[in-house]
Amino acid sequence: MASTTTRPPGVERNAAPLLHGTEAAALAAVLPGGQWGHGPATDQFEAGVADLIGVTHTVAVNSGTTALHLALRSIGIGPGDDVVLPSLTFCASVQAITWSGAAPRFAEIDPRMLAVTPDTVLEALTPNTRAVMPVLYGGRAVDLTPIRDHLADRGIQIIEDAAHAFGSRRPDGTMVGADPAVLTCFSHDPIKNLTTGQGGTIIPRTREEADTLRSLRLFGIVQSNDARAAMTSYEVQGPGMRFDMSQLNAAIGVAQLKHFPQTAAHRQHLWRTYQAELAGLDGARLVDVDVVNTVPFNCVVVLDHHRDEVFRHLREHGIGVAVHYPPNHTQAAFSAWHRDLPVTEQVAGRILGLPFHPAMTHDSVRYTVAALADAIKAAA
Ligand SMILES: *Cc1c(COP(=O)(O)O)cnc(C)c1O
Repeated sequence: MASTTTRPPGVERNAAPLLHGTEAAALAAVLPGGQWGHGPATDQFEAGVADLIGVTHTVAVNSGTTALHLALRSIGIGPGDDVVLPSLTFCASVQAITWSGAAPRFAEIDPRMLAVTPDTVLEALTPNTRAVMPVLYGGRAVDLTPIRDHLADRGIQIIEDAAHAFGSRRPDGTMVGADPAVLTCFSHDPIKNLTTGQGGTIIPRTREEADTLRSLRLFGIVQSNDARAAMTSYEVQGPGMRFDMSQLNAAIGVAQLKHFPQTAAHRQHLWRTYQAELAGLDGARLVDVDVVNTVPFNCVVVLDHHRDEVFRHLREHGIGVAVHYPPNHTQAAFSAWHRDLPVTEQVAGRILGLPFHPAMTHDSVRYTVAALADAIKAAA
């Protein structure tokens, strides 16, 4: 294996944001104003996202976790309700549910794409289920069309955790977020497809839902920050917290949005490069993201054997592998909601996320795959 000094770019990081060189100037433009809460830059970011996805309303908030939590609250999810979601997701998806007082109900996944399917969702439903939260693993859309009417008849709504899926399309060509029957939540944390530093976006289904979410994200106050400044009072109409997106974050997002088509193309190209380089490798199978429609968030393989040894070997050789994610139903914090999920447990013990971010080159991918082949041999 090559020495560290000849290592190609980016292999030591599992994920990283790609800066386009315009972010610092965008920050410098809003910084002197001293108004760093929700403001015109946030409105501009919301409009840019709405434009890209082709929707009328978008609601920017301070994280993807907040987006999920507020989406649940906005449709009245709380104590006594069950929300179905995969166990194989970032713990934030689960915490957004438990923080609302509702109960997570863990569902199995299809081991080929690491996401729930209509069948695994149906299997997990309970009499108390009021929402289903598919996680768009790796950025790939989850199609629940076959059970949509059934869910609607039972009063069950769909809230998508699309934290990985900014910019992705469904197989029918429509953008993730543009489906009028689904509440979609994106994350803009540093490693997601579109970053604002920290932040999230909710795509509401209606004007009323947008108003509710805007009220929930900023103290339940009806008036905008600007309108408030010109008045001697303001009106509090209901519950709310400070969950707004700062203009500092939004400015980074606006700068990143201008270059999003490049970022998206780069991520797709990188994933395809991995696909080609991994084709001849024994002992590892690539998790398919449907790259034609998806802006890939990560590149994950399922190993036949010895995942932990392969992981350690690669870390020791400076390759930024990571596991997305340890399953949630076996976390102590979520033990009250444990169920037997044999498929999830089996696949969760075998997944390995390879370094994946837009600063990587073809050489970075070749180097990583060669190191993976070495690690698989060494572990055998
Ligand atoms: C990143 C992520 C979140 C949370 O988003 P933040 O912006 O980090 O709060 C939720 N779900 C999944 C699947 C994620 O990857």
